[in-house]
Amino acid sequence: MKIPTEPVGSIPRPVYLQEAIKSFAQGQIPEKELAAKTEQALKETIQQLEATCSPVISDGEQSKPSFVTYPIHGNKQLDSNGVVIPFADGHTRQLPKLTGGPFRYQNYASSYVEKAKSLTRLPVKQAVISTSAISLLYPQEGIADYSHDQFIQDLIHESEADIRQCLNAGAYNVQIDFTEARLALKLDPSRQLLQRFIDLNNQVLDRFTQAERKKIGVHSCPGGDHDSTHSADISYADLLPYLFQLRAGNFYLEYAAEKEKKSTLQAIREFSKNDQRIFLGVTNVLDPHVETPEEVCALIMEAAKVIPVDRLGTTDDCGFSPFADDVSTARETAFAKIKARVQGTLLAETKL
Ligand SMILES: [Zn+2]
Repeated sequence: MKIPTEPVGSIPRPVYLQEAIKSFAQGQIPEKELAAKTEQALKETIQQLEATCSPVISDGEQSKPSFVTYPIHGNKQLDSNGVVIPFADGHTRQLPKLTGGPFRYQNYASSYVEKAKSLTRLPVKQAVISTSAISLLYPQEGIADYSHDQFIQDLIHESEADIRQCLNAGAYNVQIDFTEARLALKLDPSRQLLQRFIDLNNQVLDRFTQAERKKIGVHSCPGGDHDSTHSADISYADLLPYLFQLRAGNFYLEYAAEKEKKSTLQAIREFSKNDQRIFLGVTNVLDPHVETPEEVCALIMEAAKVIPVDRLGTTDDCGFSPFADDVSTARETAFAKIKARVQGTLLAETKL
């Protein structure tokens, strides 16, 4: 039985690119030099991804400043002190906040698709940020002359355009990064925040046909930054009934690092819809140990006892480096893990 396998997205940026990003930020090198280094990293990353034999690849997000900030990079109507996301190891990431409208994306993810497609013949998957994550940019105190309702209407429009342009640019499929889903349960145990996020994201998904939604997926995880998480202590089984309300065709779920695997599989079986494919994470991106193909295969065999095999796929638990400055996972480790995922999935195919 054929089991599709896909990456989540990001690969650690090579050291020379990290340094170029820093130097550019400090005004030490011109933009042209940063662009050349980015291009070089992109080429090398795609070549190395091809070498893993992954049937579908991404661009490794080499040119994205981060999985969440690419649409607002360069937006002048931003202040630095927005929502803070605390991680288990004590470090934080802070989002900017909006100071005026109308809200427009500065960059669309389709630019990454076009570039990647010029460098490979393999199908290219593209990740976009969720509408709900960007909705956090609107400040609690409001903005004079730009209401929250106006912002949400503008955001839904931009978010739809982001996905649609990727599909039009020939992306094999599009994955919405919805990493704040599990965090929402932590911030608001009443589940109202999570439900609001789901409803907002569904407003965007509803703008696509059923055929288009088959090519649109959602990634969820407890966050993975500097090898730490923001919401792993929240039960996955609590999240999944909500997550599968999303009218998307594919789900890319953190699983290898999950402690409660049995209840996770049961919740997937119980709450996912028949037309939703489940890509289970079979490599733990927070653990430097490189899985063997046999370990990956064993995870798939266990899952196949609970979830129908024709709705199963495999992926990595998360991106290997969602923020450009995260150097916690070596590039070589990331490629080795992807190779193990591909080989382990092939091994399971021969047994199922
Ligand atoms: Zn993730």
